Amino acid sequence: MKEGIHPPYYQTTATCACGASFKTGSTKQNLRVELCSKCHPFYTGGKAKIVDTGGRVDRFKRKFEKAAKSGS
Ligand SMILES: [Zn+2]
Repeated sequence: MKEGIHPPYYQTTATCACGASFKTGSTKQNLRVELCSKCHPFYTGGKAKIVDTGGRVDRFKRKFEKAAKSGS
C-alpha cells in the first residue's frame, strides 16, 4: 500500500446557505452547503424557507445559453 495517495481528511466547519454551521468531516476545509439538518424539508416538515439556489442557477444557465448562441 502506497501512502500519500489519499487526500487529507479534515475535521472542518461546514456553513449552510441558511446561515447554520456545523462540524463535519471532509476532504475539504471550510465547506459550504445548501442544505443542513436545520433547513432541510425532511427535518423541518417542509416549512422551511428554502433558498432559491436552483432558480438562480436555472436563470444563469438560460442566460449563458443565450449568450453562447448569439456569440461566435
Ligand atoms: Zn441550513
